[in-house]
Amino acid sequence: MRREPLRQFASDNGAGICPEAWEALARANSGHAPAYGEDRWTARAADLLRDLFEIDCEVFFVFNGTAANALALASLCQSYHSIICHELAHIETDECGAPEFFSNGTKLLLVPGADGKVDLDAVRETALRRSDIHYPKPKVLSLTQATELGTVYSVEELDRVSEAVRRLGLNVHMDGARFANAIAALGVSPKEITWKVGVDVLCFGGTKNGMPVGEAVVFFNRDAAAEFDYRCKQAGQLASKMRFLAAPWVGMLETGAWLRNAQHANNMARLLAERLQALPGVRILNTVEANAVFVELPRGAAEALRAAGWRFYSFIGSGGARFMCSWDTTEQDIADLVADLNAALRAETSDAPISAPVNP
Ligand SMILES: *Cc1c(COP(=O)(O)O)cnc(C)c1O
Repeated sequence: MRREPLRQFASDNGAGICPEAWEALARANSGHAPAYGEDRWTARAADLLRDLFEIDCEVFFVFNGTAANALALASLCQSYHSIICHELAHIETDECGAPEFFSNGTKLLLVPGADGKVDLDAVRETALRRSDIHYPKPKVLSLTQATELGTVYSVEELDRVSEAVRRLGLNVHMDGARFANAIAALGVSPKEITWKVGVDVLCFGGTKNGMPVGEAVVFFNRDAAAEFDYRCKQAGQLASKMRFLAAPWVGMLETGAWLRNAQHANNMARLLAERLQALPGVRILNTVEANAVFVELPRGAAEALRAAGWRFYSFIGSGGARFMCSWDTTEQDIADLVADLNAALRAETSDAPISAPVNP
């Protein structure tokens, strides 16, 4: 078997640290600084986020997206409340029960919806189904932007969500592990898809965008941020050397790399989709709006791709193989993958599509 490709399409977490984040880390690594977020890097990163969102929000930095989501949701809920989310939401499928754990039992109520987006009628039905004391009281709607299926809620869709949740009296949490990709796709300023459409708290992903580690929890509803620092500390999410969580944000926000990286990843995904679509037997499963491409491949071709050293998941979302592009994906990477897939398809005899999950 030949050497593994240098870069994979399995996850945008596979990519390394982008130069702007790396450079900021190096600058922060000089001399001593106060611990636990009292340093100037943390203050600067929070100010830059307030500038970006054009509002006086409360900002916290945690290590990963699961913690950001779980703690943000816990801050909006009592244990007897419930959180409405899409059935494919990361908080439901990929966080090992962390939102329920950190909220002491707040229940997730799942709704369906095309393209990974919540169906608003289903949200209404779930929120209004019962109002008696035996039902966990609906309190929050959680949206993922960009979605787990690589689609993006438009401003108009979010306006409709906003109108509905106001009537229903729900708070809004946004899982923005790929928020930058959504902004790059929509070409709007960040306020247009957050506080202006009623988002109370955004978990803004840094890791998949090119940072080593770290997500920002941005509270537009400042009351909901009360004592959030204690929640972070108790959950083991208060970094003592906080400057190293904050510095990459400074580097990426000051240089605009956060948006350039996302634009690049989205562009590469669009190119990859175009190339894949041209191959016989390959079907694109979702509209490609962010940096994910979901495709149905003949089973033998998927196996041949894996044998050629390519890694990708086949159990995320609603099936098919998922290819993620990153800030450092190159056109050559795409050409290499497509060439191997093309060879696999030519060798293919059986054309049974992937139906059951295949472990990566
Ligand atoms: C990656 C991701 C997260 C964060 O996951 P961690 O592994 O905990 O950092 C959250 N939400 C979505 C939609 C994601 O894709």
